[in-house]
Amino acid sequence: MRRNDGDAAADCGGTKAAASTAGRVRVIGVISAGARRIAVVEDEETIREGICVALRRDQCEPVAFGDGHAAWEAFQIALPDLAILDIGLPRMDGLELCRRLRARSERVPIIFVTSREEEFDRVLGLEIGADDYLCKPFSMRELMARVKVLLRRAAHSGGSRQPSEEAFSIGDLLVDPVRLTVSWKGAPIGLTVTEFLLVQALARRPGAVLSRDQLMDSAYPDRTTVSDRTIDSHVKRIRRKFLSVDPAFSRIDAVYGAGYRYGGADT
Ligand code: CA
Repeated sequence: MRRNDGDAAADCGGTKAAASTAGRVRVIGVISAGARRIAVVEDEETIREGICVALRRDQCEPVAFGDGHAAWEAFQIALPDLAILDIGLPRMDGLELCRRLRARSERVPIIFVTSREEEFDRVLGLEIGADDYLCKPFSMRELMARVKVLLRRAAHSGGSRQPSEEAFSIGDLLVDPVRLTVSWKGAPIGLTVTEFLLVQALARRPGAVLSRDQLMDSAYPDRTTVSDRTIDSHVKRIRRKFLSVDPAFSRIDAVYGAGYRYGGADT
C-alpha cells in the first residue's frame, strides 16, 4: 500500500536505508537517529518480543522492560515517545506505572494491553489518563495502527493538516481528527482513540445508520479479535462520557437490528 504525505508523518521516523540498497545488501534493524522510542512494558516474553519485532518493522526503536519498576527507573532518566503497558506486571503494576508516568508527563501517549475485556471498564473508571486499550489477544496490526495514530497526533499538534483532517462540527459537537479530541457544547470529552474513531465515523455521516461492521472497520483495521459486543460496550462508554458533561445528551441512537446513528444535525 502506498502512503500519502500525510501518512508519512505517521511513520515512526525511521530510515529508508533498506530500500536504497536496491536489494544487494539487506539492511535489517537499522534504527535512524530520529526513530521514535517506544517503551514496551510486558512480563510475558513472547508478547513483549512480538511487539518489539513489529515496532522495529515500522522503524521504531523499542525499549523493552519485563517489570514495572525497571521501566519507572528508566522513565525517570528519559521519557519514551510512547509507552505500551501491560496491567499485570511484577514489582509495579501497569496502573501505578501509568499514574507515575502521567504525573511526569501529560503528553506521552500510553496504550494499555489488557488480558480481559472486563478490565477495560475497571481501568477506564480509574481515569488514569491512558490514551487507548487493547484486549489480549490483539493483532499486531491493530496495535501498530494505534501507535501510528498517537505518534501522529503528537507530531501534528499545531502543524499543517490534510483537508480530511480539518476539525468539523455538527451542531454542538466539535471533532478534531488531528488532536483526536471531541467536545460537546464547548466541554472536552475525554475519549480513548478507539472511542474517538467511532464517534468520528458516526459524526461524519449524521443521520446515517452505520452497521456494527462499518463501525468496526472505522475503529479496528484488523478485526479478528473484535466482537459485536465490543462495539456495544464502546458505545455505552462513549454515551456515559457525553452524559457526564450533559445529562440531556441523546444524539447517539441504537437502531434495532441495524447499528448506530448520530442523530445530531441541528437543522
Ligand atoms: Ca502480565
